[in-house]
Amino acid sequence: MLDAEFFCRWLTLAASWVERDADRLTALDSPIGDADHGSNLLRGFRAVIATLDEQHPDTPGAVLAVAGRRLVSTVGGASGPLYGTLLRRTGKALGDAVEVDRDELAEALRTGVDAVAGLGGATPGDKTMLDALVPAATALRTSFAAAREAAEQGALATTPMLARKGRASYVGERSIGHQDPGATSSALLVAALAETAG
Ligand code: ADP
Ligand code: MG
Ligand code: MG
Repeated sequence: MLDAEFFCRWLTLAASWVERDADRLTALDSPIGDADHGSNLLRGFRAVIATLDEQHPDTPGAVLAVAGRRLVSTVGGASGPLYGTLLRRTGKALGDAVEVDRDELAEALRTGVDAVAGLGGATPGDKTMLDALVPAATALRTSFAAAREAAEQGALATTPMLARKGRASYVGERSIGHQDPGATSSALLVAALAETAG
């Protein structure tokens, strides 16, 4: 079963992987964006970890709510409200349960991913974080490892896509041939989740 401590460990590992990969995420955001994705997430996840250390929320839903709010308030790019919505709506779907199982998390994550699609108006194939998140949410019904694999494949699959949402859509055809930074960071978050689950 997955408790508040599990979700805190996940976000702590995710934050350390964001630290490790920030330069790569920013480099991916350079040809098709404004070269800030890594620094946006670095600022956001540092704030998330500081707030979790202070507040010690005691349910999975509360951990995700606190983290989501922090991302919205600290990340000044599109990814802040989108990831904030993902975590807040996933957390809300988990309710006030003290522990949840993988199936319950998969169902809640589906709700969170749908909320991201609702907020940003993107669908899979538009070259966004949804290209990693949608297959990951589906594969999480099978296993954490399957979700990790699906997210990584989803991120890789964005390379040949034409961007239809976000800043990358401004460069039109020139977005083709570059992996989407948000799909890449989504794959990182899902990989950290699978790693935490062991
Ligand atoms: P900004 O584009 O404001 O600088 P970031 O660089 O932090 O924000 O995040 C860019 C990422 O956000 C993109 O790579 C993409 O995955 C994601 N993104 C942008 N717009 C949308 C959208 N409408 N729906 C889903 N994801 C989006
Ligand atoms: Mg950017
Ligand atoms: Mg920006």
